[in-house]
Amino acid sequence: MPAPEIKFYNSLTKSLEPFEPIAPPSVAMYNCGPTVYDYAHIGNFKSFLFADVLRRFLELAGYDVRQVMNLTDVGHMTDDAVADGGGQDKMAAAGERLAEAKKSGKLPQGVDLDPNDPYAIARFYGDAFIEDAKQLGIKVASEPDHLPRATDHVDNMQVIIKTLIEKGHAYVASDGAVYFSVQSFPSYGRLSGNTLDELRGGAGGRVSESNQAVKRHPADFLLWKPDESHLMKWDSPWGTGYPGWHIECSAMAKAVLKQDIIDIHTGGEDNIFPHHECEIAQSCGATGEDSFARFWMHGRHLMVEGQKMSKSKGNFYTVRQVIEGGFTGRAVDPAVLRLELIKAHYRSNMNFTAKGIEDSASAVKKVRVFAKEVAYDPAQASWHGVEHEALTEFIAALSDDLNTAKALGVMFAYLNEPAEDVVVSHAMLAAFDQVFAVINSAEAASAGGEADMVQNKIDAMNRARQDKDWATSDAVRAELEAEGYEVKQTKAGIVATKKLA
Ligand SMILES: [Zn+2]
Repeated sequence: MPAPEIKFYNSLTKSLEPFEPIAPPSVAMYNCGPTVYDYAHIGNFKSFLFADVLRRFLELAGYDVRQVMNLTDVGHMTDDAVADGGGQDKMAAAGERLAEAKKSGKLPQGVDLDPNDPYAIARFYGDAFIEDAKQLGIKVASEPDHLPRATDHVDNMQVIIKTLIEKGHAYVASDGAVYFSVQSFPSYGRLSGNTLDELRGGAGGRVSESNQAVKRHPADFLLWKPDESHLMKWDSPWGTGYPGWHIECSAMAKAVLKQDIIDIHTGGEDNIFPHHECEIAQSCGATGEDSFARFWMHGRHLMVEGQKMSKSKGNFYTVRQVIEGGFTGRAVDPAVLRLELIKAHYRSNMNFTAKGIEDSASAVKKVRVFAKEVAYDPAQASWHGVEHEALTEFIAALSDDLNTAKALGVMFAYLNEPAEDVVVSHAMLAAFDQVFAVINSAEAASAGGEADMVQNKIDAMNRARQDKDWATSDAVRAELEAEGYEVKQTKAGIVATKKLA
């Protein structure tokens, strides 16, 4: 099957553009990851899942994707939206919360951390993020080398800051802090559509009002803040202190992907300004190149039951809350949550609802039942070399700016009238699951010990059956069923599927 032309919407040019990587088949992609001062919420995960689906689709299309997702573990300030170092240290705020949880015995079982140690806090929430991401089938979560932590890259940030000062893009102000000079970079504002004149007026509170007296332009942003009293601090030529928020991503992208220009950079729409605008200015300012990422792709916000998510409205959910039943009142299979968060097109404002979870649960069930009926084996099936209209349409939908909604429609239309040739069904399931990843919940849940537990029990059953020890085999099967699994003997061997909530 000839690969259709892939087109993505590029936020930089505000148009659909054909996608061609710089050095095919390699694709270098950077995704702004979580801050680790708290559990990431489902809105954050919509953005991380969008990046995962994008990667999986590019792999389906034959590309070799190097994906990097950072963990922001430097304690930044609560006024960081404008990144000028004002407000309270978010890590200190997290420490206060955790100290409270520790006092009232609400820390997760087996966790004993020192709420005064910022590194312990960052490790705790970083581990929680990785665990949640693995449960949701996010591939990069299993690649520690591709999950850089900002605190490991402070020296790389300092190298870029030095270069920026040498090239006249940054300066040390009279308060001792280092700022990027937006006037030194003529294309500042290209991504967000802001002009320096508009930004001079404060741009609706998105440009810091602090430190105006010492900056050359109100939109100049922080690269290094000397501050001996900060919880996390490092020595630097500009005094002991901490880096600005934006410089972290420029440094980690370059350090891990090892390219001055990368193919794709993603984030949520709220990252466009100031974060991504500043990343471009820093990276291009340092390298002298006219671009940092060829494609900038941004996911829209998630709404919850028609409302914008916010802590004050009480509609702020974490992945573990939803999985444990805190949203619908019933436990939710991680694969169902995954589907719910990826089934709408990434550039639409998806509305997260209990009804939607129910629909996603029956969709996952439908595809799993079909997979069982046709004895689908992910290790054996392939879509390569299979010609079928539905397969062509499925790939065409994803090639059209990653239209997951349309691709799902194609898949379910196929399930209603599957081809008689089982090879086609296997190919459809293989292509579908390479991107949507919901068939094998054990794979999606390979996070915790659960998948290992299931595999160990299946192995135990197989050993018992080889020895014709039916009593032991039945006993192990009963244990699996007690854990909520449906156990079946198929051509491919014993299969345990978690029953849907
Ligand atoms: Zn970033």
